[in-house]
Amino acid sequence: MNVILLGPPGAGKGTQARILESERKMIQLSTGDMLRAAVASGSEVGQRAKAVMEAGQLVSDEIVIGVISERLNAPDVTNGVIFDGFPRTTAQAEALDTLLADKGMTLDAVVEMQVDDAELVDRVSGRYTCAKCGEGYHDRHKIPATEGVCDACGSTEFKRRADDNAETVKSRLDAYHAQTAPLIAYYSARGKLKSIDGMAEIGEVTRQLNAALN
Ligand code: ADP
Ligand code: ADP
Ligand code: ZN
Repeated sequence: MNVILLGPPGAGKGTQARILESERKMIQLSTGDMLRAAVASGSEVGQRAKAVMEAGQLVSDEIVIGVISERLNAPDVTNGVIFDGFPRTTAQAEALDTLLADKGMTLDAVVEMQVDDAELVDRVSGRYTCAKCGEGYHDRHKIPATEGVCDACGSTEFKRRADDNAETVKSRLDAYHAQTAPLIAYYSARGKLKSIDGMAEIGEVTRQLNAALN
């Protein structure tokens, strides 16, 4: 099964994608993670994406489509993929349709996670992740069982994203409403869209997500 998690920054896409990975052995494909890795490595793609990401704007369709196209060549995608943060524009959605068709893959569902803007600012501002395994946490909503120790891997090192500040979040939300929200109609017209309440607590969102996929 191949699914898209569609939603604004902080909606909980990454959190739910990791849960689906462990529950269903699917593969999370996060273009944000791929682009951050490219920036960290200093590759040509990374150099072109860095300033755009820091400003909270969208990286060009050409770069992002190139990155995802290459990733879809890896053999593990046959386990089923969760697209997290991709597509984000109509051009990306059209390119994905073509890529999937070329590879003989289907798109089974697009799950829209609905969360209010005020809540998103709080989610993003309080977000941090384990530096070793990438498990996601939040200053108030998701705290490790033992303070300062990752539940998933035991690491004591955590990191925060440079773009997770209240000011940049504003640009990212504007980009979502202007460039990504039209995908709700795009997938609805194709009979793929399911919407769930992303405001609920993490476990309840997982329950609604599983209900949408089954
Ligand atoms: P996205 O990948 O959509 O940008 P994340 O999954 O990284 O969002 O979640 C953003 C922040 O909100 C993280 O700190 C995460 O721990 C927290 N979070 C995720 N889902 C929920 C939820 N349902 N309720 C409260 N906090 C949540
Ligand atoms: P979030 O879910 O919190 O918005 P992501 O990790 O998905 O964060 O994305 C971080 C940044 O990476 C975005 O603000 C944007 O600059 C860039 N990015 C990620 N995915 C895409 C995409 N599909 N198209 C364009 N830019 C992207
Ligand atoms: Zn960890």
